[in-house]
Amino acid sequence: MEVLKGAAVTAAIKEQVQGMMEGLEGQPPKLAIVRVGERPDDLSYERGAMKRMEAFGLRAQSYAFPEEINGEDFKEAFAAINRDPDVTGILLLKPLPPQIPEREIEAIIDPAKDLDGISPVNMAKVFAGEADGFAPCTAEAVVEVLKAYGIPISGKRAVIVGRSLVVGRPLAMLLLKENATVTVCHTRTKNLEEECRRAEILVAAAGRAKMLGASHVGEQAVVIDVGINVDEDGKLCGDVDFASIDGRAAMATPVPGGVGAVTTAVLAKHLAQAAKRSRGL
Ligand code: NAP
Repeated sequence: MEVLKGAAVTAAIKEQVQGMMEGLEGQPPKLAIVRVGERPDDLSYERGAMKRMEAFGLRAQSYAFPEEINGEDFKEAFAAINRDPDVTGILLLKPLPPQIPEREIEAIIDPAKDLDGISPVNMAKVFAGEADGFAPCTAEAVVEVLKAYGIPISGKRAVIVGRSLVVGRPLAMLLLKENATVTVCHTRTKNLEEECRRAEILVAAAGRAKMLGASHVGEQAVVIDVGINVDEDGKLCGDVDFASIDGRAAMATPVPGGVGAVTTAVLAKHLAQAAKRSRGL
């Protein structure tokens, strides 16, 4: 089984971003990472994103707010970041605490700065297959991995396990745009094993440690594992039992070191795209 490492994909995206930055060297675009509270997942993603932007020659600033911030105060602060001409793009770490109306925030984010595709405008563009919006970075990272390794998508049977708005659903649209025949599975899917085994491209995005094993994987399938979980020994693992599919799948992404690494590279690419668009380049 060939291991599809994220690092190779990230390196290719870095080159692309550097090409896009020609002419923008004087004032590198700036990412605003907006965080409420101190959730370890958010802090870890924020650190990763900050490091990636720095490695790609882009700017990033964290805007952190206390967990108990009043909803109206947060809305005002978010609107100010959104308006700031020095902020090229925004990453809002979610979920937000219950007193903050998430939908309202998603509706006020400027679609041109909405790098993770949370605004209704960008969602509609992903749904319609239009290329000038921003898709959620993780969903796009899956397509980047497939393309970087030259894995054909057109006409292939793709099965996605998971239907969230950040991964499963937008990914279904992106794969459809690439002419795959897409099935989306979830907790009410009957006979998940059978559905998964039919996949030529199987994407796991359920958030359940090692839930997919050899019995879910067809001979010579390509397996992309989006899951980030902690196993019973406290170690990071995916939704796929990686060891058990060796010898059955043709190719698979590891966790860690697979899709997760590519997500922040896609975020950097979106930031460079936002900069170019805002400067009319
Ligand atoms: P989520 O919102 O919890 O959605 C999980 C989806 O999986 C739901 O649609 C759920 O079905 C489905 N599901 C859960 N258990 C299942 C089961 N036993 N059988 C079939 N379907 C099942 O999670 P998410 O935000 O999409 O994230 C998914 C995973 O990706 C998590 O591990 C997360 O940490 C990871 N992630 C990684 C990145 C990255 O950068 N690599 C970014 C974001 C998320 P229902 O709809 O029926 O409940």
